[in-house]
Amino acid sequence: MRAAFEIAVPLIYFNGIVPSQYTPIAPIYLTHDDPIKERVEFQVAWPTAEIKPDFDFDEPARRYATRQAHYRLHQQRFRENVLRAYSRQCAVCRLREVPLLQAAHIIGDTESRGTATVANGIALCAIHHLAYDRNLLGIAPDGVVHIATRLLHEIDGPMLKVGLQGFHGSPIQIPRRPRDRPDPELLEIRFGRFRDAA
Ligand SMILES: [Zn+2]
Repeated sequence: MRAAFEIAVPLIYFNGIVPSQYTPIAPIYLTHDDPIKERVEFQVAWPTAEIKPDFDFDEPARRYATRQAHYRLHQQRFRENVLRAYSRQCAVCRLREVPLLQAAHIIGDTESRGTATVANGIALCAIHHLAYDRNLLGIAPDGVVHIATRLLHEIDGPMLKVGLQGFHGSPIQIPRRPRDRPDPELLEIRFGRFRDAA
């Protein structure tokens, strides 16, 4: 690490998400070496910038790249934690196909209460996530699924009938560990928006 710092070579940082799962961030450059505390600091480099050994890429680009890297890591960790809490199943339909599963925020991450914590997340398959985001599917504070009235009265193929209408009134599957369960207060806020949209 010290040698890499001295000659300013780019490195790949493997950030641990969960045990034995890593996200690579590259390139990074070491920017500070503290031999006494035995720690180094690094900076995420702007991937398209021409990197010079003296770190001469402009400050806004560097800040942007660092923020993006933080955000990506944050989101990946959120997804991983939420999916694990829900035993890798959609909380509504129990689908277990991981590539089709997503971690939905109860309160969006651009809002102050929209933290990337498991209690603000629900594992949903892509269709139920989108329906939740578009207020076509609501989850009440008691965990019961509500389908928008408009959709309940529509007639269409099996996706609507079985995949959406079929879950109206049924409870979501909640995580085993109490602290992983969705925060009823957040569900309440979000469910209010679902009702308003209807
Ligand atoms: Zn689903």
